[in-house]
Amino acid sequence: MESHSSLSSSSSSSSPPSSLSSESCCVKVAVNVRPLIGDEVTQGCRECVSVSPVTPQVQMGTHPFTFDHVYGSNGSPSSLMFEECVAPLVDGLFHGYNATVLAYGQTGSGKTYTMGTGIKDGTKNGLIPQVMSALFNKIDSVKHQMGFQLHVSFIEILKEEVLDLLDSSVPFNRLANGTPGKVVLSKSPVQIRESPNGVITLSGATEVPIATKEEMASCLEQGSLTRATGSTNMNNESSRSHAIFTITLEQMRKISSISVVKDTVDEDMGEEYCCAKLHLVDLAGSERAKRTGSGGVRLKEGIHINRGLLALGNVISALGDEKRRKEGAHVPYRDSKLTRLLQDSLGGNSKTVMIACISPADINAEETLNTLKYANRARNIQNKPVANKDLICSEMQKMRQELQYLQATLCARGATSSEEVQVMREKIMKLESANEELSRELHIYRSKRVTLDYCNIDAQEDGVIFSKDDGLKRGFESMDSDYEMSEATSDIGAAEEWEHALRQNSMGKELNELSKRLEEKESEMRVCGIGTETIRQHFEKKMMELEKEKRTVQDERDMLLAEVEELAASSDRQAQVARDNHAHKLKALETQILNLKKKQENQVEVLKQKQKSEDAAKRLKTEIQCIKAQKVQLQQKMKQEAEQFRQWKASQEKELLQLKKEGRKTEHERLKLEALNRRQKMVLQRKTEEAAMATKRLKELLEARKSSPHDISVIANGQPPSRQTNEKSLRKWLDNELEVMAKVHQVRFQYEKQIQVRAALAVELTSLRQEMEFPSNSHQEKNGQFRFLSPNTRLERIASLESMLDVSSNALTAMGSQLSEAEEREHSLHAKPRWNHIQSMTDAKYLLQYVFDSTAEARSKIWEKDRDIKEKKEQLNDLLCLLQLTEVQNREILKEKKTREQTVSIALASTSSSYSVFKFNPYFHTKIQNSLLGISP
Ligand code: ADP
Ligand code: MG
Repeated sequence: MESHSSLSSSSSSSSPPSSLSSESCCVKVAVNVRPLIGDEVTQGCRECVSVSPVTPQVQMGTHPFTFDHVYGSNGSPSSLMFEECVAPLVDGLFHGYNATVLAYGQTGSGKTYTMGTGIKDGTKNGLIPQVMSALFNKIDSVKHQMGFQLHVSFIEILKEEVLDLLDSSVPFNRLANGTPGKVVLSKSPVQIRESPNGVITLSGATEVPIATKEEMASCLEQGSLTRATGSTNMNNESSRSHAIFTITLEQMRKISSISVVKDTVDEDMGEEYCCAKLHLVDLAGSERAKRTGSGGVRLKEGIHINRGLLALGNVISALGDEKRRKEGAHVPYRDSKLTRLLQDSLGGNSKTVMIACISPADINAEETLNTLKYANRARNIQNKPVANKDLICSEMQKMRQELQYLQATLCARGATSSEEVQVMREKIMKLESANEELSRELHIYRSKRVTLDYCNIDAQEDGVIFSKDDGLKRGFESMDSDYEMSEATSDIGAAEEWEHALRQNSMGKELNELSKRLEEKESEMRVCGIGTETIRQHFEKKMMELEKEKRTVQDERDMLLAEVEELAASSDRQAQVARDNHAHKLKALETQILNLKKKQENQVEVLKQKQKSEDAAKRLKTEIQCIKAQKVQLQQKMKQEAEQFRQWKASQEKELLQLKKEGRKTEHERLKLEALNRRQKMVLQRKTEEAAMATKRLKELLEARKSSPHDISVIANGQPPSRQTNEKSLRKWLDNELEVMAKVHQVRFQYEKQIQVRAALAVELTSLRQEMEFPSNSHQEKNGQFRFLSPNTRLERIASLESMLDVSSNALTAMGSQLSEAEEREHSLHAKPRWNHIQSMTDAKYLLQYVFDSTAEARSKIWEKDRDIKEKKEQLNDLLCLLQLTEVQNREILKEKKTREQTVSIALASTSSSYSVFKFNPYFHTKIQNSLLGISP
């Protein structure tokens, strides 16, 4: 499968053929602003770039940058990127124009996402998958007119080594021996070669012939996978590597021109061959890993600069500077593999688009500004794209056309002088022989093409071998509500008490009623009882008397009757009289008996009545018993109720006490939080002010530098400066240089501190916001701090956090942009070293002496400071000991207080139970409590 990429473009920037159309065109630059992503959101980042919705402009702070296109944020939607930036390049391929798409930006800015070389972000949205679709659509529409051949290669440049990502014969095993970064060699390495006519080719890289879109997609996938597996093993080396996916398109087009002589299509005219390449480049992360170091000004420690990107930047600077370009300044393509491979893409035979990917987060302000500047510089690069048609083919075609033209003129003239004809013939012969010569040459060239590449080994590459591979509360969660609740509870308490009093009152009334009724009944009963008994006795006596009387009367009557009978027997006059008397008496007795009988009947009636009243009395008695039972029950109930109320009251008091305690605690928390807010704001303000001052000073220094870059020798009145002024200006210059360095360090230090502070604030803000949304979780607050944040306090805290975040964000953006300026200056110093302008030995010696003196002074100062620090540390230790002691004491006091509180609550519980529920007086209660606690009101 492996082949030499011999089918490369056959013209170069160094020698563009004058016969072919060559247009000058600038590198197009588009900016893609991705949205804020997860990590940035959790850190509380704000957007620090603003995109104009009408013009393709990005603004950061006061810097406006104009580009060819701006996507994302308020700019055009990213979906238009392919159509506007890349589709014309794909079309150009079919006309023989090379093209390059470069994705530039810091790690995480979305390069891989934009290019579609990632494995996780889906392959549909990236530019490469869209290129594939467009390419095959176009081929389908024109394949009847010409023949096509497609190849792809996919390589990665990692630590200045070119790795083949499509080599399936060797497992991509950069980590075989467990050492990260070690490349395991198993095959001849990929080498960069340059033919004499300046064409760059890769020898040893797999070029896969492609017939379908699916095949191409699988190559992309395979390569991406290889890159990804390699990079996860190597601590994300992919951010340090450049990935280049190259599509080579070869076309064979039949040239069919009309022969004027015979008026027929001349099929013999041959074919036109054309070849073009499209490089799709996912560059390494543009950021420089900066570290401030733990102590001292170790400015450059750990700064990682990707050689390829550095060289690319220098190439862009060289090409982008019109003056330097016109002067024919050297373009350092050879400084890195990347720039060598992309030589044509930058300032050469290629149509090039750079996509600058940026993150809008303020935390990335510095890198974003760097990217924007870098990309803006790239816009100045002038490329010279040329259609890569086969030169000899074209040349021959031209000659044939000329021949045809001449023949036609010859025919037309017909009767011209034989001399003229002779001249013409000679011309024709000459042309034909030239034609033959060229054809032969063409043949030779074609046959030699394969071998050519082997021969054209680049001299510089010689000898270099490249490796390959790579509870109680009931919702009392807030203090405010605590207070409301405690008020409410006292309300509830009053209501309860009132209700209880009412209940007790009504029961008391009921009881009274019952007692009254009982009394009535009892008296009634008594009355009844006494009456009946005496009446009975009275009646019984009377009855007996009556009975006796009746009997005596009857006896008397009987006697009388017997007498009367006796008398009747005697029948004399006296007897007659006595009989009459007797009869009279008898009669009287009879009536007496009758009366008595009547009386007796009455008596029976009365007895009956008496029986009735006895029954009534019995009923009354049971009623009384019943009432008595009721009374007892009621009394019991009253007692029970009173007991319940007492218990309730006690629990209420306990609760109230608890609430009050919590209220105090919450109030304490609130005060603490307020103090924290104030303190944090002050610290932040102080920090941002410090940072602003450092940033301002840095800005001034940088601006002063800009206006007079190397202002050492002040030439006064055309005279060379006096020795003294010269030394003074030298000193001033060096001081300035050193101050810039120190300030950069200071600003960077504060920048990083600010980022930390901001992240902490953001974490708190998110957790507070979550609590607002899901209040049930509020009690599960970590570290137990601010457990009882009321909604109001929480809102206050959120507002204050937000304002702090705003301040922080502005400070970060300002610092980032100044750091970027400083960076740029360092970069320019890279091109023109700092000491370049020191011209005399005397100056150099003077400076050296000055540096020596300053260093000595600085060292002595450092020693003094160290001693100071030592002393301070000792003091601190003493203070710490003291603090520990106080803490121990404090703990003891707290313990004592707690036990006292416990005794108080126990005492309160017992006193409150002995209080009558009706007599409960909260004022006394608190008074007692206070006196027990030893608090004076
Ligand atoms: P880079 O290749 O520059 O290091 P990536 O392409 O890997 O960056 O992107 C970093 C993260 O940002 C990825 O998780 C990716 O999904 C996300 N991302 C990048 N660009 C976008 C975008 N336009 N929209 C949404 N997420 C994006
Ligand atoms: Mg990437």
